[in-house]
Amino acid sequence: MNFIYPEYEIVRNHEKCTNCGICKKECANEAHGFMESASKMTCDDAKCVNCHRCSVLCPTKAIKIIKSGNTYKENTNWSNKTINEIQRQAESGGVLLSGMGNPENYPVYFDKILLNASQVTNPSIDPLREPMESKVHLGARPKKIERDTDGKIKSNLKPQMFLSMPVMFSAMSYGSISYNAHESLARAATELGVMYNTGEGGLHENFYKYGKNTIVQVASGRFGVHPTYLNSGSAIEIKMGQGGKPGIGGHLPGTKIVGDISATRMIPEGTDAISPAPHHDIYSIEDLCQLIYSLKEVTNYTKPVIVKIAAVHNVAAIASGIARSGADIIALDGFRGGTGAAPTRIRDNVGLPIELALACVDDRLRDEGIRNNVSIIAGGSIRSSADVVKAIALGADCVYIGSAALIALGCHLCRTCHAGNCNWGIATQIPELTKRLNPEVGYKRLVNLMTAWRNEIKEMMGGMGINAIESLKGNRLMLRGVGMNEKELEILGIKHAGE
Ligand code: SF4
Ligand code: SF4
Ligand code: SF4
Repeated sequence: MNFIYPEYEIVRNHEKCTNCGICKKECANEAHGFMESASKMTCDDAKCVNCHRCSVLCPTKAIKIIKSGNTYKENTNWSNKTINEIQRQAESGGVLLSGMGNPENYPVYFDKILLNASQVTNPSIDPLREPMESKVHLGARPKKIERDTDGKIKSNLKPQMFLSMPVMFSAMSYGSISYNAHESLARAATELGVMYNTGEGGLHENFYKYGKNTIVQVASGRFGVHPTYLNSGSAIEIKMGQGGKPGIGGHLPGTKIVGDISATRMIPEGTDAISPAPHHDIYSIEDLCQLIYSLKEVTNYTKPVIVKIAAVHNVAAIASGIARSGADIIALDGFRGGTGAAPTRIRDNVGLPIELALACVDDRLRDEGIRNNVSIIAGGSIRSSADVVKAIALGADCVYIGSAALIALGCHLCRTCHAGNCNWGIATQIPELTKRLNPEVGYKRLVNLMTAWRNEIKEMMGGMGINAIESLKGNRLMLRGVGMNEKELEILGIKHAGE
């Protein structure tokens, strides 16, 4: 027996509705129906996940989805959500699953940080008329300048990754997202001169041509990993952890391992793709070091290696180990980071905000004199160009965006990616749904978003009197906190507004 009242209600204005049936066709959750006898549309609120597909595409705007007004007698301790979750578990006996990032009411530090702007002295720079450098390169820097016997500087720069702007698309595997979503990301990264990331699902053979703008990932399941794959991208990322589900592995159900996905992952059709929680050959920094050098060996020391970790309590010490392990880049993933599927309890209760993790890692590496051993990529809910600028001023070299890129592709954050029925054709492998995302449209929307952010980043930098990303990096004097306590300010390494 179902004890749960629907979370959302489909409100249809029958005066505006023309019974065209578009909403019925567009809802893969079958929330809309048509009653022949009454000649009118019907709906089943319980099936609605609030993805907005029907309300956006209804030609007469006759539908809106509202949060159900039906409420428990809740109190501070027992919220509607908590009671509903207990009801769901009592019914199913299962672990609760969710898609996308942690939505809970923890502080968003980016929203408590303000940027500086020049006034009178140290004049601001007009980015439309004066040169403004938005390019970045990622990788280990030489510890010191060395000269040969003739006094010429010896170039001993390790392999680098070049970006036209300090934003890249984060790892999303083919399997967790559709072919068309991957193609949109690959084409946008190529046009923009940035990188997209294969995630842990291998690389479809059609996408090898985007290799110059591809980061290939090696995760604990090692799906689709072989020498050609490793050599096909511009960098290799070892995924040790992910902000959306720190400390646990992944699971793509066998129902999604079909056709090309099975071939790309190199596992039989219908087999569950289980990524173990740990890499079974890594139990220490020395083990990680061995994998890094195995990957460098197979790529003839031509590619930088990124190690991605979830932001967790002792992240600074972990990053310090990674910076000494031979890795060229560390990717830090905060607890708001998105995921195709995660146990809700893990997603909502484990990890750290990226702002705090980033500041303490940058501090630790500087204190130990090893900041130049590695570049830092920050991810985990970067939502706007202002978040990008703040992340760089807190110590990042650049950022990863995932959820923001998917929103540009049409995602409406219904957070049911794990169900595989994405009405926007993104987190699904159902052919009738995947074709809803046209990669020609998708890649242009991504290019638009990134172009807009690049211009905004330049405007903010110009306002601060800064003309290069390198001068913004770790420049916490450009930041002030509002409404934070002493400890938070101390960890972020910034002053309170007014100081
Ligand atoms: S799409 Fe709009 S107009 Fe068409 S049946 Fe649905 S509610 Fe009615
Ligand atoms: S799930 Fe999406 S398409 Fe279906 S009724 Fe709800 S909002 Fe509309
Ligand atoms: S990708 Fe699709 S299923 Fe996932 S949150 Fe976005 S709209 Fe919903």
